[in-house]
This record gives sequence, C-alpha cells and structure tokens, in this order.
Amino acid sequence: MSARRAVFLDRDGVLNANVFYRDTGAWEAPRRVEDFRLLPGVVPALKELQAAGFVLVLVSNQPNEALGKSTRAELRAIHEAMAVSFERHGIRFLDYCYCPHHPKAVVAELGGLCRCRKPSPYWLFRAANRYGIDLRMSWMVGDRATDTACGSAAGVRSVRIGNAAHQDAHAVWQAGSLAEASDFLLGAGHGPRPEAGLRPRLWA
Ligand SMILES: [Mg+2]
Ligand SMILES: [Zn+2]
Repeated sequence: MSARRAVFLDRDGVLNANVFYRDTGAWEAPRRVEDFRLLPGVVPALKELQAAGFVLVLVSNQPNEALGKSTRAELRAIHEAMAVSFERHGIRFLDYCYCPHHPKAVVAELGGLCRCRKPSPYWLFRAANRYGIDLRMSWMVGDRATDTACGSAAGVRSVRIGNAAHQDAHAVWQAGSLAEASDFLLGAGHGPRPEAGLRPRLWA
C-alpha cells in the first residue's frame, strides 16, 4: 500500500460552530445535539480534499463529559449527527479520534494526565501506524494553538483557522475558514514540504 496523505481535522471551530453559553460566558464546543451546526462551506471543502486524495481523520479534545457539561449520550448524539451528515454527502472519515479526558475533570475516570489530549501527537502517530499515513505529506487544520502544536509534534504541517490576532509559529498558513484552508491545501498541499519562499500569512 502506498503511503496515504491525510488531513487531520480539529472539530469545534473548524467543522462546526462553537456555541456561546451564558453560564460560562464563553464560546465552547456544543453540549447538546440541538446546538450542533456545521459551518458554511465545510461539506464542499471536505469533498474537495477527499477528491484530491487526502484521507480525513478527525482529532478532537472533547472533555465536556469529564467537565460535567454534557452526558456521554449527549456527546454521542453530537458525534452521530455529524457522522450521518457527512455520510449523506459522501464524505468518509477514516477515523474519528476523541480525547474524552481533562486534567480538571469532575468525573474521576476521565481525569488526570492522559496521553491523547492535544497538543499530544498521540492520535496522529496512532493513525499513521494503523492506516499507513505519511505524516510528512499530511496536514493538521485547527483553530487553536494546541492544534498546530500537535501537528508540529508529529512532524505534520498545520493550517490555523480563525480570527485571532496572533501569529502562530506552528502554522504554515492561516485561513479564515476550512474552505480557505482547503483552497490552500489543494494548491500547496501535495508536496512533502512547503513551497520555497512560503511564509505564514499575517492576520489582516
Ligand atoms: Mg477547535
Ligand atoms: Zn485523553
């Protein structure tokens, strides 16, 4: 089997919208399936990446059960709504990798230090071994510094999504949306290294 190239995708803020919850006053991962919305342009972007020969692997920290904000059933319902939506559009994820842990967990079995919470590169190495993925030909797309640091730790180049005002030294490229990231990867994502002279784009 020839080595595959993958796009490792963070979930919240990349595939689906974060949600504002008044009890914490913060934009967070959806806690219930009613709060789950795919972001505009995500379905066509994933289809384009897939058509270009990338395999898709989701890598997501999902600590809401550990933090007592969601039940396991609520998290499963969110996952299944997303997976069904992708299947309906002919989008196939090779794997969905979730870290359910959190250092400040209120559920004891999900607490403490785990090996799979980003920025740990655990899931990327595991997917590379299990599915024959060439990490040097692969990309991480995420909206947080922990995502791009995870990519760097695995030797995977990263695209950072979002509107933050900071340069990210771990990101080869910064994009406003997955659609923009996909456009970039379809132009530059085929080689084993960034093109000569490529520099991270500054935030506007
Ligand atoms: Mg995120
Ligand atoms: Zn974990």
